[in-house]
Amino acid sequence: MRYRFVVGNWKMHGNRASNRALLEAVVKGIDGLEAVECAVCVPFPYLGEIAGQLAGARLAWGAQNLSEHAQGAFTGEVSAPMLVEFGCRYVIVGHSERRQLFGETDCVVAAKYAAALAQGLKPILCVGETLSQRDAGQTEEVVERQLRVVLDSNGKKSLENAVVAYEPVWAIGTGRTATQEQAQAVHAFLRARVLPETRILYGGSVKPDNAAALFAMPDVDGGLIGGASLVAGDFIAVVQAAARAAQRKG
Ligand code: PEP
Repeated sequence: MRYRFVVGNWKMHGNRASNRALLEAVVKGIDGLEAVECAVCVPFPYLGEIAGQLAGARLAWGAQNLSEHAQGAFTGEVSAPMLVEFGCRYVIVGHSERRQLFGETDCVVAAKYAAALAQGLKPILCVGETLSQRDAGQTEEVVERQLRVVLDSNGKKSLENAVVAYEPVWAIGTGRTATQEQAQAVHAFLRARVLPETRILYGGSVKPDNAAALFAMPDVDGGLIGGASLVAGDFIAVVQAAARAAQRKG
């Protein structure tokens, strides 16, 4: 069985006071929903405090990016060993915002994925097409390439310790979600290229009102949640939807 997994991506949001309140509410709200593993990927400066707050809680934490280098003269970068020191279990790699706004290529993403694994962090590898690529019928070609470059250099077996997230770029932060059929089609395509137990998350404007339909799809194992992870009630409702899907799908 593939465990359901819901991950919050806070992006560059939050402050110390609001983080504390949000996490307190989320930890309470997910109590009893053991069928779903939950995590939050937070901005670097908050990792220390959040590690303290979440110690012993069922909510894991991680980062949204890392350097492909373990140490050295890389001003402004944060390495995998540093994330490990702060108790991170997960790190997002290849988010479309990193690819589009910070020029991360498939090769850089593959190196970051390797850097995470080398330190025992589980990378959450994001793949997804832009709207123009979808309109041009290139969705499968794009996600296949993004996945292949990472697996060519890290091996398919590396997926034993990784998670894949399908995030259509046109659905991220836009309020426009892939239909459950669109999501399922790409997830099934990816499923054929990963290990049977690999969890494939869907990300792109997942909210309490569309989560159940998406999570009901056979190859959607959970979600990578941006905006809705900043509102405790919304994030909890998404986890509840994943828990109900887990009950139904097993
Ligand atoms: C994301 O940040 O990866 C994301 C999917 O954002 P949103 O849920 O806001 O679309």
